[in-house]
Amino acid sequence: MEIKITLGDITKVPADAIVNAANPTLLGGGGVDGAIHAAAGPELLAECRTLGGCDTGDAKITKAYRLPAQYVIHTPGPVWRDGDDCEEELLADCYKSCLKLAAEHGCRHVTFPSISTGLFRFPLSKAAPIAVRTIKEFCGNKDIFDCIEFVCFDEKTKKAYETALED
Ligand code: ADP
Repeated sequence: MEIKITLGDITKVPADAIVNAANPTLLGGGGVDGAIHAAAGPELLAECRTLGGCDTGDAKITKAYRLPAQYVIHTPGPVWRDGDDCEEELLADCYKSCLKLAAEHGCRHVTFPSISTGLFRFPLSKAAPIAVRTIKEFCGNKDIFDCIEFVCFDEKTKKAYETALED
């Protein structure tokens, strides 16, 4: 399995499942969530309305509509406060919940944005190693996925995930 780090807009990258850094309402928001809903079309919001929200660290799956994927996996990341509110555990839970759903649905190529490091202010230098470590621990030597791809929206984010992957 390959862990790939690319620079770009996650709504433009073909995958089996695209992960959305959502919020607990699952009713859309800013950042990557807004971009995913805009690119998928209004049917995505209509399906999300039927889901009854989602807890932080958990994940729910929908169809991907006009996105170049079969599924969107929505996960509300933790809002960073002071690091003492289980933020690190909850971020790891997000990655685990998404990977579990992706595996259950037979997705071999999954794209992730940098969950929580935008509007939710999780420090990038802490988030990137948690993301990489959680993916490696989940997959081990098992043949579950072909490619887990971080689609980073800026160079600073891409660099942080590259550094985490090298360590
Ligand atoms: P959160 O609320 O979880 O912090 P944000 O969407 O604010 O989510 O930010 C998460 C990351 O997603 C940030 O690095 C942000 O720059 C990035 N991002 C925003 N739009 C896109 C996009 N279209 N594709 C990939 N990443 C994006």
